[in-house]
Amino acid sequence: MRLEEHVAFSTAAALVALPWLKEEVWLPYAASILIDVDHYLEFVAARRRLSLREALRYLRTPQRQRGPLPKPLHQPWTLTALAALAALTRQRWLWLVLAGMLFHVGLDACNNQLVRHIQGQLQQEAAGRCPRCARETTRLELHARRPLRTLLARYRRANYVVLCPECHRLVHQQRQRLITTSKPARLAPAQ
Ligand SMILES: [Zn+2]
Ligand SMILES: [Zn+2]
Repeated sequence: MRLEEHVAFSTAAALVALPWLKEEVWLPYAASILIDVDHYLEFVAARRRLSLREALRYLRTPQRQRGPLPKPLHQPWTLTALAALAALTRQRWLWLVLAGMLFHVGLDACNNQLVRHIQGQLQQEAAGRCPRCARETTRLELHARRPLRTLLARYRRANYVVLCPECHRLVHQQRQRLITTSKPARLAPAQ
């Protein structure tokens, strides 16, 4: 799930929790957003640069082009260690931080589950054959037909197709070429 979506969900949850947590609400709120510092670390590790603007651009590229992510703060063992620490030290603030992180990870899990469900349905319909080239394959990848800018767009099945890895690569190459060639060309001087 994207950072701006996390901010929106966390703000809504913080408003709901405000009457109970009062001024402590900022702890889970901050934790539920700052956990995404993981993605920034990924960018720094991959590109050896620190620019925040470049990081945001980098993180907008599809995950499969970026390789596997380390994401240490999102890992179950980090969350388990934090829970153990909170239980041992009986620090309320640690539990609140943990609650924020779990909220974030839970949202990510729901989001992934919904998208994976769409992929499963489309794969079943394709029955082991790429809908584009009709090649038989067991590896059908999910491809978004258009940029998915909102959550609703991301959960609409009609916005996706499954493709074999070769077709998927080709489709993205074509799209890239389209973007580069459709850049506004300088106008010829008027006659
Ligand atoms: Zn294909
Ligand atoms: Zn794709």
